[in-house]
Amino acid sequence: MNPWLIPLTLPTLLQGWLVGLLSLTLGFSQYPSVKRGVLMTFWRPWFAKRWRYSTTLGAWMGMHPDHGGTTEFHEAIHIQQYEDLNCLGAMLGGIVAIFNWRLGLILWAFSGMMWLLPNFITGWIRYGNAYYGSSHERFAYAATAIETARDGRPIGIE
Ligand SMILES: [Zn+2]
Repeated sequence: MNPWLIPLTLPTLLQGWLVGLLSLTLGFSQYPSVKRGVLMTFWRPWFAKRWRYSTTLGAWMGMHPDHGGTTEFHEAIHIQQYEDLNCLGAMLGGIVAIFNWRLGLILWAFSGMMWLLPNFITGWIRYGNAYYGSSHERFAYAATAIETARDGRPIGIE
């Protein structure tokens, strides 16, 4: 997470950490660490067998233990996307708050990752695949491929 954006992206930070801490508490993941404000955990073996993906929600990365820097880079793109949408939510929420502060706060709090959800519907309609057709996944895969071609190995979120 970019520290300069945190005043605008606080919901992304808090929601991600909440889910990440829940995953630790409920025994889905282990080995927590923090990189640039992002809580990173790794799936426990029992969960890694069932969920073969790395997953990012807000400022939390739940990493599959077999995945490395390339996946971490891909997931970091999603955090930037959440930040962008959370900033937009803060701006729109700020305008709405002039008239109704509760509605403005709700708009801000539920922007970010929530606003990527419609991409799965449009991705499915456009490409017949909700995941690979979503514009945020297409962008993250493309950015990771560009970085890999340029440097040979993306470096994650360092
Ligand atoms: Zn992705």
